[in-house]
Amino acid sequence: MTVCPDHPAVDSAKLDKLAEVAVRVGLNLQPGQDLVLTAPVAALPLVRRVVAAAYRAGAGQVTTLLSDDQITLARYEHGHDASFDKAPDWLYNGMAEAFAANAARMAISADDPMLLADQDPARAARLGKANSRAYKPAMKHIAGFDINWTIAAYPSTAWAVRVFPDLDPDAATARLADAIFAASRLDAPDPVAAWAAHNAALAARKDWLNAERFSALHYTGPGTDLTIGLADDHAWQGGASRAKNGVTCNPNIPTEEVFTTPHAHRVEGVVRATKPLAHQGSLIEDIEVRFEQGRIVDAKAARGQTVFRELIQTDDGAARLGEVALVPAGSPISQSGVLFYNTLFDENAASHIALGQCYQECFVNGASLSEEEVAEKGGNSSLIHVDWMIGSEHIDIDGLKADGTRVPVMRKGEWA
Ligand code: ZN
Ligand code: ZN
Repeated sequence: MTVCPDHPAVDSAKLDKLAEVAVRVGLNLQPGQDLVLTAPVAALPLVRRVVAAAYRAGAGQVTTLLSDDQITLARYEHGHDASFDKAPDWLYNGMAEAFAANAARMAISADDPMLLADQDPARAARLGKANSRAYKPAMKHIAGFDINWTIAAYPSTAWAVRVFPDLDPDAATARLADAIFAASRLDAPDPVAAWAAHNAALAARKDWLNAERFSALHYTGPGTDLTIGLADDHAWQGGASRAKNGVTCNPNIPTEEVFTTPHAHRVEGVVRATKPLAHQGSLIEDIEVRFEQGRIVDAKAARGQTVFRELIQTDDGAARLGEVALVPAGSPISQSGVLFYNTLFDENAASHIALGQCYQECFVNGASLSEEEVAEKGGNSSLIHVDWMIGSEHIDIDGLKADGTRVPVMRKGEWA
């Protein structure tokens, strides 16, 4: 008896390729290297293939930690109120220990993006905060890019019916599967080679931005007039990059962005989100915020405003930016027209910014900087890192240099 057969609507040959790309391109798992893999049970058909691909690549030991939507909901339905401030420190400390010993990290994303829509946002925020706090020792190794890591996605039916509500569950799952496979470049005859070409194209963009050395970016468009100062000695990253353990990996499958560190204290003006933000099971729509000296001083949202305001009050850095990323409106994910309600995909459909923790790799010689040096250069720190989309075909972006020169970077959402 097969306990969890492959989903009939999901192409199993493509799933084999996705597992291969996740392990070889996403992680570039090294012979003898351990792997810590987290995934929802809904993603088991991919999880099993990833574990097999990891051992074929010579993995030392693969540890799989599974979660489940119904188990998550059971806590909201039956958990004592005090439960919402608790998180398994012992588990996250163990993960931190594994990463310190050079284990690679893979997360598979497949959750229902609206799972917590009917739950108390204050409780969800408390639980999110408790988890972020407990996860911090492990997150340090990810944000500091100590080890090779990646995130990939599996088309669960619970997710698919949110994306394609008019289709029956099997048809929705097949559509989401196709969209994930196309975005992950699995339609190419040799996906690993297609990724090498894509990484080279992203590297060319990144090199141009690094050579320009902009001190700020200026965004204009409907509801948006925003100047984002860039951190001192910021470095643009994108596509494949080299972790401190010497392994070159692709942290996101898919990825279309080039990104760097904004200055935590030099962001001014107003910005309107161009896509809804699905955050920990809630949907936040039509976000509009105003920044002063890098901090959000006014925040509105047509839907999910409470969730958004709770989010930016997580800690001092939660109302400041930790990432700015450029993605052309013509990216394949944007062109698909699909709103995934999942940051891994939606952030690759539009230019975006992220609240919270910055990436140390987005500094010149980032690997050698202490936390204090990162902060001195304008790098933000926070328990959260949440991306939201502010780009579209209506947005222009200029690069501003220290001497006042203005260089067009994007026009109507495309590279200028
Ligand atoms: Zn990003
Ligand atoms: Zn991000």
